[in-house]
Amino acid sequence: MRVNAYAAPAAGLPLAPTTVERRAVGPNDVLIAIRYVGICHSDIHTVRGEWGPQPFPVVPGHEIVGTVVEVGSDVTRHRPGDRVGVGCLVNSCGRCAPCLGGDEQYCARGPVFTYAFTDHDGTITQGGYSTHIVVDAHFVLSVPDSLDPAAAAPLLCAGITTYAPLRRWGAGPGKRVAVVGLGGLGHMAVKIAHALGAEVTVLSQSLKKQEDGRRLGADHYHATADPATFTELAGRFDLIVNTVSAEVDVNAYLGLLTVGGVLASVGAAPGPLVVDGFLLSSAGRVLAGSMIGGIALTQEMLDFCAEHGIGADIEVISADQVNEAYERVLASDVRYRFVIDTATIG
Ligand code: NAP
Ligand code: ZN
Repeated sequence: MRVNAYAAPAAGLPLAPTTVERRAVGPNDVLIAIRYVGICHSDIHTVRGEWGPQPFPVVPGHEIVGTVVEVGSDVTRHRPGDRVGVGCLVNSCGRCAPCLGGDEQYCARGPVFTYAFTDHDGTITQGGYSTHIVVDAHFVLSVPDSLDPAAAAPLLCAGITTYAPLRRWGAGPGKRVAVVGLGGLGHMAVKIAHALGAEVTVLSQSLKKQEDGRRLGADHYHATADPATFTELAGRFDLIVNTVSAEVDVNAYLGLLTVGGVLASVGAAPGPLVVDGFLLSSAGRVLAGSMIGGIALTQEMLDFCAEHGIGADIEVISADQVNEAYERVLASDVRYRFVIDTATIG
């Protein structure tokens, strides 16, 4: 089946309308009519070639919400008409220790991401800036009806990517959590950490978004451009979640951790991190990474967000505005996630 989509034809070129082929629905597959798709900074890193060579043309998009059109003969979990979501993962081996432990994103054979990856059948995956997608049912999430579908789309990446380290490192009552960067991931981290009961601080480049930060659930807000922030907050936090899309001075943030505190980095700027070993060891601090989250945890996150009435703060755009939206994301001028209305694709 050929479907309409938006693709980057080559590294750094603007996205333009195209068509892509979707496979026939197999016994374990779900055909989804995509309704909304979020724009993640990872889409931009990918199509600009910042993460190395890509199999262009690339159709980005891994924050997908839509409706089931058809299911394969062996699918029992989803039915036509159900509201569903697809995030960054569309396949994994299903047999290795990480897959069996619910961490499909760390599959030993290599996870298959939603776009620009080679799937097990040898085809290149094409993402959600598109009208339809066919996905193995294991990787299709149920999106609770109480969530607004457009605001739910960013949960499929920004939501799970921040929920995972917040849960893993015990964000909750009595814990001081800082979120570095108030963009798509950062604003979800603030909402989720607040809903988990933590005391939340935003560390943003400036105080421009301070009012928003407090509305989203932050108790405190500081500018990282002000050197006083780093002396005032030294040793303060149990957990810092770094969501910055550019290189950061890891050591400046390690210094803000309490004894045994954790700096969980989810921002994916390319390049090495230079770590001051003394800062790390002298207070038993932990430098941790985290990548999206497994399928079961993603469903838990969606149910948690439904229970707490959490969606992303979004600006819905038409597909022909995508290149302009990319520029605004790059300028940190996003409040706080762009979501494409897929009815405008084609
Ligand atoms: P985003 O919406 O662009 O937000 C990034 C934020 O980082 C900006 O809003 C800005 O916050 C801050 N920032 C940007 N440039 C900066 C600079 N030069 N110095 C300091 N701060 C800067 O991006 P996103 O979609 O949230 O994604 C954030 C990062 O996470 C990207 O690298 C993305 O690829 C990565 N990511 C990782 C995973 C994972 O699984 N680990 C999943 C999804 C995305 P302020 O304006 O508040 O300073
Ligand atoms: Zn993403």
